[in-house]
Amino acid sequence: MSPVSPTPPLTLALSKGRIFEETLPLLEAAGVHVAEDPETSRKLILPTSSAGLRLLIVRASDVPTYVQYGAADFGIAGKDVLYEHEAHDTGGLYQPIDLNIARCRLCVAVPQGFDYQAAVRQGSRLRVATKYVRAAREHFAAKGVYVDLIKLYGSMELAPLVGLADAIVDLVSSGNTLRANHLVAVEHIVDISSRLIVNQAALKTRSAELRPLLDAFARASVA
Ligand code: ATP
Ligand code: MG
Repeated sequence: MSPVSPTPPLTLALSKGRIFEETLPLLEAAGVHVAEDPETSRKLILPTSSAGLRLLIVRASDVPTYVQYGAADFGIAGKDVLYEHEAHDTGGLYQPIDLNIARCRLCVAVPQGFDYQAAVRQGSRLRVATKYVRAAREHFAAKGVYVDLIKLYGSMELAPLVGLADAIVDLVSSGNTLRANHLVAVEHIVDISSRLIVNQAALKTRSAELRPLLDAFARASVA
């Protein structure tokens, strides 16, 4: 008899920070414990209490790529990240569940004292800095506002303070970061939360292992 190679563990890709922290209770609900903290451990592959599941710690915006190519069987990513990812790459991803975690809002924000509504009424051309170029382009196009979009990869709040942009499109949860930088949210574009995404091939070939986890996540996310 030829030796049977053991099935590799299912691999879940997610980012550290708020998504990791808010995923822990969902994993617990599925009976899975994670002993290591990615903030202190330098490991990028974390084992769990289940031999059948390991975690990959990747940049938030890289989660869809790992799942799409099958390097991870499934992953957890914000709608913000998924929407931008779809702009250049589709297919191979199945999105079964809104996990309702890492909730925030995508907003337009401007410096305190800047009359955004007046600028819009006057048809001024606005310079807008953002990481979310697709969402921003579609938002302003739908409003009929002319914008020059400036792509940034982080710290968008800085852009209006140093004259790089008139406005930003960014995620807001408590509003503390905006306030600390003398900015105010003037338009709510869309509510954001994180979704589970699954590699389509894995969904077929590993559904028996995936199903109990997906079911437990779905139950825990509405609880
Ligand atoms: P990186 O820090 O790797 O550049 P990032 O800043 O997008 O990426 P995080 O700050 O960990 O990564 O955010 C990950 C996800 O958390 C976001 O894509 C979004 O879906 C969600 N999120 C919830 N609230 C906020 C918030 N106030 N600011 C940023 N992201 C938030
Ligand atoms: Mg960050």
